[in-house]
Amino acid sequence: MDATTTVQALRDKARAFRDARNWAQFHDPKNLAAALSIEAAELQEVFLWKNKDEVAALVASEAGRAKLREEAADVFLFLLHFAESTGLDLSSAVEDKLRVNERKYPVEKSYNSHRKYDELGQK
Ligand SMILES: [Mg+2]
Repeated sequence: MDATTTVQALRDKARAFRDARNWAQFHDPKNLAAALSIEAAELQEVFLWKNKDEVAALVASEAGRAKLREEAADVFLFLLHFAESTGLDLSSAVEDKLRVNERKYPVEKSYNSHRKYDELGQK
């Protein structure tokens, strides 16, 4: 469905959900940023204290995938609500950030490296 669903279509559905409950009054940028962060923490919590093998098993399991799916959706939904409340265009923001990251992480310096951009020149 990612291949056929637009960001705008998801924004429209999230907005309709919000407006049907009259929740725009609560959706200020500060609270939405906090909610987004809290949901990201819930995504992290799914993995908390698990070792590499346990993480792999979780990601491969139906129950684990269901939990990850739910928390990922929560993160994305709050990002959509955040975009709605601030008037940000997510698609152009992502395109712009990818261009910035392409400059910060040139392939010839960052291939096979997890170093941060300001450490790429170092051996
Ligand atoms: Mg959640």
